[in-house]
Amino acid sequence: MKKIIIIHTGGTISMLENKDTGEIHTTSDHPLSNIPYDFGTTIMVDEHIAFSLPSPHITPSHMLSLAKTIDNFLVEYDGIVVTHGTDTLEETAYFLDLVLDTEKPVILTGAMRSSNEIGSDALYNLISSIRVALSSDAYSKGVLVVMNDEIHSAINVTKTSTSNIATFQSPQYGPIGIITKESIIFHHQLVTRTTYPVENISKRVFLLKAYAGMDSKLFELIHVGNPDGLIIEGLGQGNLPKETIPAIQKLLKDNIPIVLVSRSFRGTVGPTYAYEGGGKQLKDMGVIFTNGLTGPKARLKLLIALENNADYMILRDIFEKEF
Ligand code: ASP
Repeated sequence: MKKIIIIHTGGTISMLENKDTGEIHTTSDHPLSNIPYDFGTTIMVDEHIAFSLPSPHITPSHMLSLAKTIDNFLVEYDGIVVTHGTDTLEETAYFLDLVLDTEKPVILTGAMRSSNEIGSDALYNLISSIRVALSSDAYSKGVLVVMNDEIHSAINVTKTSTSNIATFQSPQYGPIGIITKESIIFHHQLVTRTTYPVENISKRVFLLKAYAGMDSKLFELIHVGNPDGLIIEGLGQGNLPKETIPAIQKLLKDNIPIVLVSRSFRGTVGPTYAYEGGGKQLKDMGVIFTNGLTGPKARLKLLIALENNADYMILRDIFEKEF
């Protein structure tokens, strides 16, 4: 008999609609406690409420606490399903993917419409996630996100629509599997996956998005805030307006690591352009480039790496070679 545990953290999947006002609220009892579905096999499903938070209130410290809870449950259970608000679901999924060293299925799911809204995807996504957690093919796939009949890798998935139930997409590579009425079908697999143990989250890492006309001002303000690291969502293949360069040089001179991703969600960054502010200049200055991550996910990776006292050379390897 397989044993699955559902860990609730809050979000719309844990909420109900007030039929008079239309507002979505948390409830004292979880609305999805009894699952009316025959999984076709004898299973035991337990539940645990870790938090009852809307996901904009979730911090990296909550993610760490959740990782520790999951680690404990993994001793006893064959699979874990985490319910989570969709706004920051991809960040929690990626954090767990970075720190959980397990082959067992760990699935995150959420809902775009609460349980008593018309067309709710809450119960459906929960049932789909349990089905994936029960699948022997879900082993060794890293942390997965299951929504709307699709299975996504934590590293690639992102929320693309504020309201559509097909919101979770992996723009670069697509989902790694699908869910049908009869089966769970995986059609891709991650080539590599590296995990990093972490005991605390205590560093300050900021995230800036580049834009046409950006200058040094925001970088100077961040410098005053004593950052431990900075992520920049740069332009195109990894370029910045030239007016940002003096402030970036000062941050690097103070040994503040800067990791650059692209604000485009497809393609790669690299030292392609040699003009002032271009990727070549940034790379020569010591800016670290990384691919396949959004800014928020790169930020979580830097938080974890800094906690493990990674120096510049190690950071370069972690961000440029390890995925
Ligand atoms: N704002 C909600 C949250 O992230 C949205 C959701 O759960 O879908 O908690």
